[in-house]
Amino acid sequence: MSITKDEARQLLHESALRVTSPRLAVLRVLAEAQDPLSHTEVLQRLGETDWDPATIYRNLVKLRDAGLAPVVSRADGINRYALAQAHDDGHQHPHFVCEDCGRVTCLPAELTASMAMQGPWAASIQKAMVQLRGECPDCLRRLSEAPR
Ligand SMILES: [Zn+2]
Ligand SMILES: [Zn+2]
Repeated sequence: MSITKDEARQLLHESALRVTSPRLAVLRVLAEAQDPLSHTEVLQRLGETDWDPATIYRNLVKLRDAGLAPVVSRADGINRYALAQAHDDGHQHPHFVCEDCGRVTCLPAELTASMAMQGPWAASIQKAMVQLRGECPDCLRRLSEAPR
């Protein structure tokens, strides 16, 4: 999913946030991403800019506080942000953490759908950040193709 500058502007208006260029840029990076991004990953995707990392970080926090970019993964103690509503389930699905390349990927919710959502644990499970770890398909492929 990607959004235009106007759509990003609209999102900021709806959240009563001032429209600034770093905010627009961060929103668009998050909208384009398939997966949750850390501060560092947002910087990488922004590429060369005039904004320093601290500015981008402050804007991420602003967007988070406004509910536009909630933290959906805390894998390895690193906050990863995603555009709200980019996924219908609000990132309740499990995330896969690759121990090789460090990428965090959204997995289909079906993988944990069999968890019974009833009884005293139901609310806890719904709030849980489910995390699976290992090597992602790209890394597995790379490893199997590597010359021995
Ligand atoms: Zn990987
Ligand atoms: Zn997700």
